[in-house]
Amino acid sequence: MIKRTSHLPLIKSNGEVRVEDFKTLGKLQKIYGVEFHIHPYDLYTIINSEKILLDTLSNVAKPIYKKMLEGIDEQIHKFDLYPLIVAHLPVLKYPDIEQVQSEEVALDAAKKVFQDLELESSLALETMHDPYRNPGRHLLGYQIEHFTEIIGDRNFGICIDTGHLTLSEESVNKYLELPFPVLCVHLNGNAGKRDDHHIATRNNIKDSEVIEDLLKTVDGPIVLEIGNHDYSEEEIRIVVDRTRKGLI
Ligand SMILES: [Zn+2]
Repeated sequence: MIKRTSHLPLIKSNGEVRVEDFKTLGKLQKIYGVEFHIHPYDLYTIINSEKILLDTLSNVAKPIYKKMLEGIDEQIHKFDLYPLIVAHLPVLKYPDIEQVQSEEVALDAAKKVFQDLELESSLALETMHDPYRNPGRHLLGYQIEHFTEIIGDRNFGICIDTGHLTLSEESVNKYLELPFPVLCVHLNGNAGKRDDHHIATRNNIKDSEVIEDLLKTVDGPIVLEIGNHDYSEEEIRIVVDRTRKGLI
C-alpha cells in the first residue's frame, strides 16, 4: 500500500519533478512486475496548490508546464516506466471563478505549447466533457477541432475518456475517425449529470458497443479511473476481469 503524501506526488509546483518519487515507482514496478504510466496534473492543480497564479496559459505558466512534461519524459526513460504521457488540454474556467480565458486564446496557446514539445515518450491528449455539463473546471478537448488544431501534424495520439464522452455532444466514432491513434482509454461512467467516475456499465456510458470494440483493440493502457464510491474489492475485481476480456 502506498500512503498518500502531503505534497503533490511526482511534481513540484514550479514544474520540477520529484526524482525520489519516480525512483520509488521504478522500484515498485520491479517488485510487483507491473508497468506504471503517468497522467500528470494539469497546471491548475500544480500551480493553484501554492496559489501562484491562475491563468494556465500565461507566459509564467507555459514554461512550468513544459518543464513538467519534459521532466516526466526523462524520468520515464530513466526508470523504464510505460512510455506514454496522457495530458489534459488547458483549462478555460475554474470552479467559482469567471471564465479565465477565451477559447480562442487557449487554443492558440495550446497549439504553441504542444506543437513545440520534443518528447521521447508518446503523448496522448484526453477527450473532455462539454463545458458547463460538470461542476468544476472546464477544459478544452470537448470538440474534434480542438484535437486537429492542437495536434496538427505531430504524431500524438488521443486518450478516450468514456465518462467525458457521455457528457459530450461528440460521438465516439468521430474521435475514432481522426488520424490520431487511441493510445489510452479512461473507462468510467456517469448518469449524464456530472463527471462522477463510476464503474462503466452498458447503461451509463455512450456508445458502449463501440467502446467494447475499442477495448479489444486498443494498444495502450485501459485505466478504470473509478472515483471513491465505496465499491467493494469484489466489485472492482469483476470490472478488472471483464475489462481484460474487452467487456463493459
Ligand atoms: Zn480521464
